[in-house]
Amino acid sequence: MGERADRDLRLAIDTVEKNLLALHDDPSSAPSVKVEAVRSAWQSVVERLALGPEPERRICPHCGGFVRREAIRCIHCWKPSSSE
Ligand SMILES: [Zn+2]
Repeated sequence: MGERADRDLRLAIDTVEKNLLALHDDPSSAPSVKVEAVRSAWQSVVERLALGPEPERRICPHCGGFVRREAIRCIHCWKPSSSE
């Protein structure tokens, strides 16, 4: 993640924080409006993270732990573990 993307993400997180604080500090707007502001700010954070789809996983035949589908070694028991 680049420096600019880092800064954008921090700003987006700050906005979530401010909107969360406003949920109980600011009596001027309706609760649904405040919740919508939090939801919108959170969406902005998620977009900046750009995580993509969750990696596919399978079960390790040795220990039963979850490993990435393409893993060649289990992260739990460290035994070789291929998807074939
Ligand atoms: Zn294992």
